[in-house]
Amino acid sequence: MKAWRFYGFNDLRMDETASPVCKPHHVVVKVQCVQPSVTEAQLARGIKTLAYERIKKRLETEAPVQLFGHEFCAEIVEAGDGVSKFQVGDRVAARAKLPCQDCSLCLSGRSTLCRKGPVIGFDLPGCFSDFALLPEIALVKVDDRISHSEAACLQSLSDSVAAVETADIQVGDTVAIFGQGSMGFECMQVARNCGAGKIITVDVRDEACQKSRELGADTSINANQDDPVASIRDLTDGIGADVVFECAGGSPLQGLSGVKTLTQAIDAVRSGGKVIGVSWFGEPFPVDIDLLRERSLRYLFPDISTSAHLEYTVRLVASGRVQLKPMITHVLPGIESVPQAFEITANKGKYKAISPAQVML
Ligand SMILES: [Zn+2]
Repeated sequence: MKAWRFYGFNDLRMDETASPVCKPHHVVVKVQCVQPSVTEAQLARGIKTLAYERIKKRLETEAPVQLFGHEFCAEIVEAGDGVSKFQVGDRVAARAKLPCQDCSLCLSGRSTLCRKGPVIGFDLPGCFSDFALLPEIALVKVDDRISHSEAACLQSLSDSVAAVETADIQVGDTVAIFGQGSMGFECMQVARNCGAGKIITVDVRDEACQKSRELGADTSINANQDDPVASIRDLTDGIGADVVFECAGGSPLQGLSGVKTLTQAIDAVRSGGKVIGVSWFGEPFPVDIDLLRERSLRYLFPDISTSAHLEYTVRLVASGRVQLKPMITHVLPGIESVPQAFEITANKGKYKAISPAQVML
């Protein structure tokens, strides 16, 4: 089969490799649609973010190596012994971070807290290839009402569902979301489904603000034109938002905000309110803990998404309660397009992309 393999950072080559051999509790899938996540597009270029050291070590010791590709839609072509939930011909998507199923946390029903399990695309080969071997526990069956393109976004949506659940939104809460990339859009739409009252979004791109209003934001602020903190305070009688999702932070090398939007999120939330940290920053930075303490702020990080979250994403999209199509701006033909998808995803601002660029196989 054809598979893209990394020989180092910035060195991606399409090779002819052996197709994966099925094993118990796993399936072999034929990939239909795959997209790099924003994190993967950064890691491919050696930009520091989540799992940078882990990927660097794999490149130094194992290259050439198949990396990334956990956001996909694929069809099962072979099911291993012990697979009970899926059949050949089923279309599936996956969650990325898997429990080890063996530690005391996993065995006591707290597998979302396990950090010993593998991550698809980081520890296991993902789907930048014709075929892939995947563990059954990662998968969800895709409803017929969901397209290949939409299904490739379900992994990201399941993380956004977990983030919104972590926020524990109360009915009528004012929710602000910094960043209207894929996870910002997803958090906004899931928050609407979970009882959010007033929804305020922030981005620096007019097209993202426009799309955000179309998808349900009551107000969308272009932070290049208006001060988002002052605007959010104006819209909340000076109090601040009950919940703020920070989805814009990260490396400025890729058009992200650095830590600026985290500072703004802290300034825009009300006393006792919650800031949900969705972004990865790639480096440490100083935080005024006394400020958080004085205002009784909660700075929370999302739980890892579970099978239940992933199955909920299927219902959300199949029923139309969350729209993914308007966020899919770039769809490329054929496995040869993978490097172009990484380029677009790494520079979404330049290409006016909202979600990562997709490749149809
Ligand atoms: Zn475990």
